[in-house]
Amino acid sequence: MSLSKPIVEVRHIGKSFGAHRVLNDVSLSVQPSQVVVIIGPSGSGKSTLLRCCNALEVPQEGSITICGADLVKEGRLIPDKELNALRMQVGMVFQSFNLFPHLTVIENVTVGPRQLRKMSKADADALARDLLAKVGLAQKAEAYPSTLSGGQKQRVAIARALAMQPRVMLFDEPTSALDPELVGEVLQVMKALAREGMTMIVVTHEMGFAREVADVVMVMDAGRIIEAGPPEQVFGNPQNPRTRSFLQAVL
Ligand code: ADP
Ligand code: MG
Repeated sequence: MSLSKPIVEVRHIGKSFGAHRVLNDVSLSVQPSQVVVIIGPSGSGKSTLLRCCNALEVPQEGSITICGADLVKEGRLIPDKELNALRMQVGMVFQSFNLFPHLTVIENVTVGPRQLRKMSKADADALARDLLAKVGLAQKAEAYPSTLSGGQKQRVAIARALAMQPRVMLFDEPTSALDPELVGEVLQVMKALAREGMTMIVVTHEMGFAREVADVVMVMDAGRIIEAGPPEQVFGNPQNPRTRSFLQAVL
């Protein structure tokens, strides 16, 4: 039982690309400070589900609310003006970093707050320096992305998303493009965020992270959530045979 509003509520969404049904009656609810980890085979719809939660994709059926406000209502996206305000509440980190190559690290972090939140340069710089310190990159503020390792780039991308002061952070396989020795530094930053109470939805193949950090693990297969529960249940006593075969393949 929870008295607070869910930060993200997805109700019965459906999404097709042409004839291909990619999400089929998907529902989930994320409470404040909850960490939800989504796992499942490639092509099962994990990225599409995350992208629906910040309207990078729009489901044709169902509804999505962010902190109680409609984002998508019965398959319809809200108007642009409201959309832009609501999107600022939802931070996203992608597998491929997506930093602006022609901007320094600190400029990458401040561009959103300055342009979208109309923050002054001084305030945005101060915020960015705090966030860069938090992700362990205070000394890289003036560097260009091309001079950074993959792990450093991803930590900048996390700082950039946090600079918009979102209510929830979505991570889509944030460590999948990294050399193995760089995965840990990114997971450490994500664990620290979770400990501070950030609400997070994380798509990952890092089962150790899921076991340690997730409040709820959801398993997707063929566009549906086929199983959900605390990590000890999903990993220790999976109910769905497809969960079992997926876990056998990845563990
Ligand atoms: P996952 O992240 O679990 O690997 P995705 O959500 O990326 O899965 O993709 C689910 C399915 O939807 C895949 O079959 C993929 O090819 C298809 N798909 C994703 N995005 C598009 C798109 N923009 N156009 C057409 N098909 C897409
Ligand atoms: Mg994906």
